[in-house]
Amino acid sequence: MSSAESKAAPSATGFTALIIGAGFAGIGMAAALRRAGIEDFAILKRASSVGGVWRDNSYPGAACDVPSHLYSFSFAPNPQWSRTFAGQQEILDYLQGCARTWTCYAMYA
Ligand SMILES: Cc1cc2nc3c(=O)[nH]c(=O)nc-3n(C[C@H](O)[C@H](O)[C@H](O)COP(=O)(O)OP(=O)(O)OC[C@H]3O[C@@H](n4cnc5c(N)ncnc54)[C@H](O)[C@@H]3O)c2cc1C
Repeated sequence: MSSAESKAAPSATGFTALIIGAGFAGIGMAAALRRAGIEDFAILKRASSVGGVWRDNSYPGAACDVPSHLYSFSFAPNPQWSRTFAGQQEILDYLQGCARTWTCYAMYA
């Protein structure tokens, strides 16, 4: 466990930023804050796990419609995409990996 992961979640009144939702936008925002050296933020998520639409839409054939190397974070390129237009599970796995790297679960409230 990294030092970031071992931190306690910010208190309800003691954080600099509050992110609502843990889809691409929320995780991207968390990463931007951490890359700027801001650690005292919280992420509010409605569902039990991160992923946003990629957690919620698992119908057969669900995939992105832009190439995956573009439909990913510039700060977290993934040379392992299995195909040009990755499927839902692969995108969800990528996003959850980014969440593990760029946020820590203690940040979620
Ligand atoms: C099948 C599918 C394919 C797509 N393919 C592409 C594509 O190829 N290219 C492209 O650019 N876009 C695509 N999109 C669009 C996609 O919605 C966006 O690319 C992007 O993933 C949206 O991310 P987001 O974080 O803004 O929203 P979301 O992924 O919707 O995440 C928002 C999160 O906020 C949470 N939330 C909402 N309200 C609250 C609240 N009050 N409190 C706490 N949490 C809350 C939700 O539960 C959710 O987890 C696709 C969408 C779908 C469904």
